[in-house]
Amino acid sequence: MMSCNESGSALAAEIAAIPGVAARLIALHTADSTGHCAGCVWLDHPRLVYPCAIQQAATRALHTQATRLAGRVLPIRPDARS
Ligand SMILES: [Zn+2]
Repeated sequence: MMSCNESGSALAAEIAAIPGVAARLIALHTADSTGHCAGCVWLDHPRLVYPCAIQQAATRALHTQATRLAGRVLPIRPDARS
């Protein structure tokens, strides 16, 4: 059985795989004036306390994407000037 943290990592990986989704989720899942998540309106019961699991997973996904992008940057070689 997956722990909550492992399922959060799996969700973050899924979000990170689709460009633009992490930023969109973070924009939607913000704190309202009562400290609850404004994006979790699809639930029938009272809103979740911010930050919700979706916001946390999206934030983790954004970090994953940034790390991948940083890994793609080629090292600058001083002798490579033309
Ligand atoms: Zn939320």
